[in-house]
Amino acid sequence: MYAMTGRGGAFLEFRREYHRRRADLERAFLSHASLENGELVVNRCPACGNERGDDAFYNPVGFRFVRCSKCRTIYMDPVPSSAALARLYNDPAETFHWQKGESTVGTVKPAHEERDALLRMMPSVARGSLLDVGCAVGAFLLSAKEQFDRVEGVELNANTAATARSNGFEVTTGRLEDVAPGKRFDVITMLQVIEHIVQPAETLERVRAMLTQGGIFYFSLPAVDTASFKYLQRDHVHVSSYGHVSLFSREGLESLARRTGFRVAAHEFYGGLDVSLHDVVSRRIMPGQFRHRMAAYNSRLLFSSNFVEKVLPERAVKALLPAGEQSYQRVIFSPA
Ligand SMILES: [Zn+2]
Repeated sequence: MYAMTGRGGAFLEFRREYHRRRADLERAFLSHASLENGELVVNRCPACGNERGDDAFYNPVGFRFVRCSKCRTIYMDPVPSSAALARLYNDPAETFHWQKGESTVGTVKPAHEERDALLRMMPSVARGSLLDVGCAVGAFLLSAKEQFDRVEGVELNANTAATARSNGFEVTTGRLEDVAPGKRFDVITMLQVIEHIVQPAETLERVRAMLTQGGIFYFSLPAVDTASFKYLQRDHVHVSSYGHVSLFSREGLESLARRTGFRVAAHEFYGGLDVSLHDVVSRRIMPGQFRHRMAAYNSRLLFSSNFVEKVLPERAVKALLPAGEQSYQRVIFSPA
């Protein structure tokens, strides 16, 4: 189960509007993008490098995904070129999300859950320096600074980076390669970021080069070896937009570690099943309008399902789904 963020009707209205704008943006992109004009490029498995994918499916907007025939990682193929992705991420439809949505800057709540998971999975790393890649407004940094001697971030979006700086953090605007050369960290973190990178192996090699002796890389990401993915597949929120291009299987993470000079030091699934009663109900009764985790088309259904779900044991919903893991994973890579 997951907790639907509250704030009632206005929040739902915002979500509905954001998804409508983004779907329009994606349809406009797909209507002209092709391999011939270079807006789409051929992809391969981001985990093991294998060029053969099977079990192809299209998400509801029309992006094509395949599963690696070797490691079962799911990736978008063809995928928007990096220039096209940069344009998509900077479209007003995305800006709308960051300016008006749940990520509104100003009041940052610390991400203690992620920090506590890191310390539980690898208690020996509790001190030293930490770099958070894709730090956004600094929620994780806020939590990490209680534990680590020195924390800093790197963030691609200039506005978001400026907000993190105004929250008191040292933040580089840009990518990992823009962090001052020669800097080394005991812990480098990347929370819910790797799934957005088309071929992250190069980024991970850079991460490895920036770790101190004994340093570790901690990241969290969606999972696809899951009950919810078996159940929803093309309708799953993990494959709902151009944003998620690389969705690693557990086995794929082993390949990725090997290819980039790491080993998997710790791994866990978390986040529950990620299918609510309203998902199950609305997918059955209005499949054409179904949106995983949204129910944006019918707030009454959303709130009544959530109410019923509170009094139902989790196993009641679970009984409707195939068996599988929880919906997200946390991983620690150590240099091999
Ligand atoms: Zn693979």
